[in-house]
Amino acid sequence: MTGDNLYRCLSKLIKGRVTASEPMSRHTSWRIGGPADFFVEPADSDDLNRALAWARSSGVPVVVIGNGTNLLVSDGGIRGLVLKLGAGLSRIEIRDTAIYAGAGVLLPRLANRALQAGLAGFEFLAGIPGTVGGALLMNAGANGCSMGERIQRVEAMDFEGNKVTFDRNELKFTYRNSCLSHRNLIIIGAGFEGLPCPGIEIKKRMDQYQSRRRGTQPLELPNAGSVFKNPPGDSAGRLIENAGCKEMRVGGIQVSLRHANFFVNLGGGTAADVLELVHTVREAVEEKCNVKLSLEVQMLGEF
Ligand SMILES: Cc1cc2nc3c(=O)[nH]c(=O)nc-3n(C[C@H](O)[C@H](O)[C@H](O)COP(=O)(O)OP(=O)(O)OC[C@H]3O[C@@H](n4cnc5c(N)ncnc54)[C@H](O)[C@@H]3O)c2cc1C
Repeated sequence: MTGDNLYRCLSKLIKGRVTASEPMSRHTSWRIGGPADFFVEPADSDDLNRALAWARSSGVPVVVIGNGTNLLVSDGGIRGLVLKLGAGLSRIEIRDTAIYAGAGVLLPRLANRALQAGLAGFEFLAGIPGTVGGALLMNAGANGCSMGERIQRVEAMDFEGNKVTFDRNELKFTYRNSCLSHRNLIIIGAGFEGLPCPGIEIKKRMDQYQSRRRGTQPLELPNAGSVFKNPPGDSAGRLIENAGCKEMRVGGIQVSLRHANFFVNLGGGTAADVLELVHTVREAVEEKCNVKLSLEVQMLGEF
């Protein structure tokens, strides 16, 4: 089948948004990334299942993204189908202390709903711009808390369209990683347990975290959060600064003046610029501080 025929067939099957040659720069917080051959935002989990069945029968490779806030997509884009889990899987349900959130729920919304329900444990999510799915895969964290801590269960789908549920005791979360990242699964939702707490206390912590973030992160320019993971007992930002890389620039990408582990897009930056800056900074840190930094951002597409 030709690309046009494949696209027509996909559009007929899917209730959600379907496009071809979709610029991935529209779906990454860095505003970087070439076109994805096929792009679907499933309307619900049945839609997701149908898109997966189409991909299997057409022999098209699949990648899953959330809000694109930890992604570096290549300038050449992505050959295959990109499934963006967002509004179609964004149900939140709260019963007593139990919270269910779809994979597409944005983390600040989850934090605010927990606040309204008087449930603590989600305050740190208020300033993280990702989705529940992406955050579980990455075990996103801040302010000494991380995604895995309040988890009760994760609902996922494999690439054959089978649903699987993992209970808390079957899940393992480590620093910016989870066992889910090795299992080739699509997270579709998760159950959490909140801690009853007066709203005023929850709100106070949220405000503190947010104002600290505003003071230390370059939120006015496109970025993807921390580029490198913090090495044990140290901070990547401190090492990058000590290696003299603050303000270093390649093309449109610059090491932020405010937070050296954030690389900002000053306008027109490309994935090639980011990669060159990543290599230069990594070499400088290794030479001057004798530490090998590993990437936190996830790379998609051909590099
Ligand atoms: C300004 C800013 C501040 C940030 N602050 C923090 C912070 O404090 N702490 C922190 O940990 N991170 C932070 N981040 C990074 C990022 O927001 C988190 O890692 C977030 O959890 C990523 O979620 P996402 O939905 O954007 O995932 P994406 O970037 O879309 O994807 C990340 C990875 O998850 C996979 N994925 C996404 N959704 C699914 C799914 N449903 N099923 C299976 N795999 C999936 C993707 O394939 C990819 O490998 C920050 C980013 C920005 C831009």
